[in-house]
Amino acid sequence: MLFGIAGGLVGRAKGSSFVLWFMISALVPFFGLLTAIFYRSENRELRRQCPSCGRVVKLYDALCTNCGAELAFPERAIASESQMRRRMSA
Ligand SMILES: [Zn+2]
Repeated sequence: MLFGIAGGLVGRAKGSSFVLWFMISALVPFFGLLTAIFYRSENRELRRQCPSCGRVVKLYDALCTNCGAELAFPERAIASESQMRRRMSA
């Protein structure tokens, strides 16, 4: 029960559903809570392009996942996947 509430609060704080994470954390107490804590809605993360190899990486990445180039904080971010989807469906 405590795990359920904790997991639900964590899930909600990350912009997800309280009920969903409450159920996950209550059903699989310890693991569910950990999942909620480490859960990241990747689709909503802002992205940017590596200046060195052109690969699109997450905004918060300090190093390019492809070529390993060090990335300064970008001047402009690329729209997140969910934003692009919304634009396409509009
Ligand atoms: Zn790169």
